[in-house]
Amino acid sequence: MLYQRSSALFDEAQKYIPGGVNSPVRAFKSVGGVPVFMKSAKGAYLTDADDRNYVDYINSWGPAILGHTHPVVLEAIQKQAEHGFSYGTPTELETEIAKLIVDNVPNIDQIRMVSSGTEACMSAIRLARGFTGRDKIIKFDGCYHGHSDSFLIKAGSGAATFGNPNSPGVTKGTAQDTLIATYNDIENVADIFRHNQGEIAAVIVEPVAGNMGCVLPENNFLQNLKKVCQDNGALLIFDEVMTGFRLAFGGAQETFGVDADIVTFGKVIGGGMPVGAFAARQEIMDYLAPNGPVYQAGTLSGNPLAMRAGLTTLELIKSDKDFYNKINKTTETLDFEIGKILNEKGLKHRINRKGSMMSIFFETNKVSNFQEAYDSVYTCIFNNFFQQMLANGIYLPPSGYETWFISAAIQDAEIDKTLEAVRRFEF
Ligand SMILES: *Cc1c(COP(=O)(O)O)cnc(C)c1O
Repeated sequence: MLYQRSSALFDEAQKYIPGGVNSPVRAFKSVGGVPVFMKSAKGAYLTDADDRNYVDYINSWGPAILGHTHPVVLEAIQKQAEHGFSYGTPTELETEIAKLIVDNVPNIDQIRMVSSGTEACMSAIRLARGFTGRDKIIKFDGCYHGHSDSFLIKAGSGAATFGNPNSPGVTKGTAQDTLIATYNDIENVADIFRHNQGEIAAVIVEPVAGNMGCVLPENNFLQNLKKVCQDNGALLIFDEVMTGFRLAFGGAQETFGVDADIVTFGKVIGGGMPVGAFAARQEIMDYLAPNGPVYQAGTLSGNPLAMRAGLTTLELIKSDKDFYNKINKTTETLDFEIGKILNEKGLKHRINRKGSMMSIFFETNKVSNFQEAYDSVYTCIFNNFFQQMLANGIYLPPSGYETWFISAAIQDAEIDKTLEAVRRFEF
């Protein structure tokens, strides 16, 4: 049996940890089977508890953009650890990473560090509400902004624009302040603004969506969002937890030439350590405690080990002028070659790709919003594809609604392995 030790470890884990995991998608509920327990990672590869190796296409859901356990980052963390793990005081290191980011990301004057993407997005909307004096926010169906109450909201039925709780424990009151719109549908957004005049603090969006599979903004969607927000006195929040430092060093703002009012970060910014952040121009950041009235805090925010991992990762990316060209080219090759093989097999599919993010949707020609993603994932072809790729040593995200993250460690040998596995796919 391929996953013998994983299977035993999963049985044991389920006794002490709800569902055996500390984050639901890891449980393989949507693809079925037993989650594979990993014990180490290096470069492009994960090694599981049964000593099998996999080419890794999740890369810790994005952070490991350099590949796993990069020697320079490892050494930086080791050295930092000798000076202590956490002080709960300011450090010079925090200013160093803040300066690097503020100097290189458009439209931000200051940045506040937190410990997760969830915290970053939760704090960003609190700041937007405090700054505008308004309560409501617009989010898009299929976009994920972490698990705080305001975002665990699904579309209401019919013409009702306000959402319903997506999870028990989220109150109806909270749900009423979150309005749900359709991704890539600017008319829908304009309509929601018309029905809630003077009430909307912010629109939050994944500028390239990665949590309904990879879905790209189309027909100047982001530019139009900016305009609708401006016309209505609302802030535009780019949730760049995935896209930040991945599409470009300046993230989606740089890639698409659209100016956001608040930007959130996570994943790559921590280089594999638990880090998130939110940033904006001075006028907005002035609203934040201790200078302003909007409260936000964190015992481990700006933690030196995490800052060192993040700073070293960002510096390595920055020092390689060709970094993004290379990972984008790898991704393009995968897209093109996988597409060719699937076409030869006669399997109808669509590959969405931007930069080093991509995903495959089966049985469809086009996916530009959540409903279209749903219709594809519903066919379960992805699940079959996932299982066969896994058995052939290719670790894809264990859900059709997730994006593949290509790391700089993936080279020709790994691409060849991947294509060989796709060739063997039987559907
Ligand atoms: C992962 C993610 C989050 C949440 O980040 P966590 O660190 O998991 O809390 C928020 N927004 C986006 C776009 C994400 O991809």
